[in-house]
Amino acid sequence: MTADAERLMQFMFALRRRGVTDRRVLTAMEKVDRGHFVRGTFADKAYEDVPLPIGSGQTISQPSVVGLMTQALAVGPRDKILEVGTGSGYQAAILSLLGRRVYTIDRHRQLANSAQALLTRLGHTNVTCIFADGSYGLPEQAPFDRIIVTAAAEDPPGPLLAQLRVGGIMVVPVGQSDTVQQLVKVTRTEDGYTYDEIAPVRFVPLVEGKAPA
Ligand code: SAH
Repeated sequence: MTADAERLMQFMFALRRRGVTDRRVLTAMEKVDRGHFVRGTFADKAYEDVPLPIGSGQTISQPSVVGLMTQALAVGPRDKILEVGTGSGYQAAILSLLGRRVYTIDRHRQLANSAQALLTRLGHTNVTCIFADGSYGLPEQAPFDRIIVTAAAEDPPGPLLAQLRVGGIMVVPVGQSDTVQQLVKVTRTEDGYTYDEIAPVRFVPLVEGKAPA
């Protein structure tokens, strides 16, 4: 077996061991090379199951957490998805293979721009990266079938709940920044919202406003 194949096998094995079992999610994660999204000093750790720095003080999430969140989101092929927290664009790339259309927002201009350039270069043409404060969602494209927040909020943001269609699912890490947060799956029903806790996680905080240049 080549070194690349061996590395990919270990990568996929770590996902399964952490409970990522959904066939479509595993296939998408096998196709998206995380090596494209981690560069510089940490490039040699791209296939390890750890979060890594990506610049602007932010991190690309741990692959098994990406897998668990994506699995909980239960994306269908017709779904229009909103991601808050573009970061490297890795999560968005995986979502782009599972759904119809992905809008992803980051409060760092630099991250939104480089993610857009990379995703376009890699052929993920159904992803749009937007530089904005994602706590307010994207009213002009609402409602969304699926919403994923990849930064920790103290509570699921009201505007995002409002932009979820009835029957839609939102996955969001909830808790105080810098302590352990709970990954929460929110389902919008005809008469409200139901909340299920999925796993303890640790994310950088959702911060208000655009980051200064
Ligand atoms: N999903 C990313 C990792 C996200 S790290 C990936 O696959 O690489 C969390 C990201 O959330 C950071 O890039 C941070 O800038 C962004 N963020 C934090 N608060 C935000 C807000 N209010 N609006 C938009 N993005 C936000």
